Amino acid sequence: MQRFQSYIDGEFLDGEARYQSIDPATGKNWADMPEAREGDVDRAVNAAEKALYDGPWSKMTATQRGKLLYKLADLVAANAQKLAELETRDTGKIIRETSAQIAYVADYYRYYAGIADKIEGSYLPIDKQDMDVWLRREPIGVVAMVVPWNSQLFLSAVKIGPALAAGCTMVVKASEDGPAPLLEFARLIHEAGFPAGVVNIITGFGASCGAALSRHPKVAHIAFTGGPETARHIVRNSAENLASTSLELGGKSPFIVFADADLESAANAQVAGIFAATGQSCVAGSRLIVERSIKDRFLNLLKDKAEAIRVGTPLDMATEVGPLATKRQQDHVAALIHKSVQSGARIVTGGQMPSGDGFYFPPTILDCDGVASPSLAEEFFGPVLSVVAFDTEAEALKLANDTRYGLASGVFTQNLTRAHRLMKGIRAGIVWVNTYRAVSPIAPFGGFGLSGHGREGGLAAALDYTRTKTIWLRTSDDPIPDPFVMR
Ligand code: NAD
Repeated sequence: MQRFQSYIDGEFLDGEARYQSIDPATGKNWADMPEAREGDVDRAVNAAEKALYDGPWSKMTATQRGKLLYKLADLVAANAQKLAELETRDTGKIIRETSAQIAYVADYYRYYAGIADKIEGSYLPIDKQDMDVWLRREPIGVVAMVVPWNSQLFLSAVKIGPALAAGCTMVVKASEDGPAPLLEFARLIHEAGFPAGVVNIITGFGASCGAALSRHPKVAHIAFTGGPETARHIVRNSAENLASTSLELGGKSPFIVFADADLESAANAQVAGIFAATGQSCVAGSRLIVERSIKDRFLNLLKDKAEAIRVGTPLDMATEVGPLATKRQQDHVAALIHKSVQSGARIVTGGQMPSGDGFYFPPTILDCDGVASPSLAEEFFGPVLSVVAFDTEAEALKLANDTRYGLASGVFTQNLTRAHRLMKGIRAGIVWVNTYRAVSPIAPFGGFGLSGHGREGGLAAALDYTRTKTIWLRTSDDPIPDPFVMR
């Protein structure tokens, strides 16, 4: 059984307790993990605070920080295959996806390496004579980062990269489900030469480790990715330390297809949009809103493509859909399908939980047209597409916005003016037109409504890890008059 350690104050440690991690492809234990509780959390936060104010990190120039980030980017690229295999083993995310995604994670660190010495303060044209006033941009403080199981190296890179560029120190809590790649990534932080305490990486359970971290008095900001229910705990915990928060939460993203779209292209994008990562993707295009005149044709196209998908063992490069990450997730998908069918949804394909080892679930399409199906409102975080039809553009927009989430959306049409109307009308943080799922370190990412607040990616994300300090300097040599002597 493979054994992992936590990384606190520059040291690799066994943790206060241990637990075993399950391989989702077999349902069997495969690795022994360190479990951080309140004591380890406290040690990690104290190490981060010490590194922020007293250690070599606090004295480094922004350019030196950037150089360390470049080194880290190179190490991620060089170790991408090893990290990908660990992520596949521990989360079931297929090797095709983890290899490509982790190679791209290196580019995120490279982007933020370049940002480190571009974070500037400013000089204010103040309305008083003999005064110079500046804003310094300083690191926001110790950051707590809490991530979910899917794409942990990616979801942590969009936090660690900008936070390091801004000069912060941090404690990263990997998800208790599948922490192996992030714990292994700690070795690259160490090798790159970041001073002890700058990046601490632990894992543990939400109610103990996550709660202790998010309410720790020395934490200044919490960068969270996960579900809205957990986000509510995080926000309540932040009432203790009054830390600021950025929340990247779930979605029920609409994927709108008009009759004039290139249907083959749209079908390929829809299949990738919902079945990639076995549907365990926050931006999954999980609600297909299709023009009624092409509904049957488009559904047949999707059905054929869904049934041709190779479901299999995640370490096989030929596999296109692997297992779900946990048994809990598999049960949730099955239960929500059951509830939806009871409410009148019709299964177009899939829908049955397979027998046998591992947490597999086949690509599933539910026709929910004219039905108040719970599958249209609740997040599966699994390979299930819910379909409704529309007759007019106004109806399509109304259906798209009929959600409390607002993370992503897709519009497929050849009509340019209509595309413009929809990109303005859709209430979501991302609108993809005639494409889906494109991401880049340069483009901000984040949601509206129940999908959270704050943006990851781009320069603005690095600025979010800073706070301003206002400096007033009196430039006159005249003595300051006694304020209590009347003149
Ligand atoms: P989750 O909310 O259950 O867990 C996320 C993290 O929070 C884990 O590390 C967990 O240990 C921790 N946690 C749990 N309870 C806690 C508590 N009381 N206090 C502090 N931390 C606690 O999420 P999940 O089930 O692991 O992941 C799935 C969710 O993540 C989905 O809703 C998905 O849409 C969302 N997600 C969002 C994005 C995005 O960028 N918007 C990306 C990926 C996943």
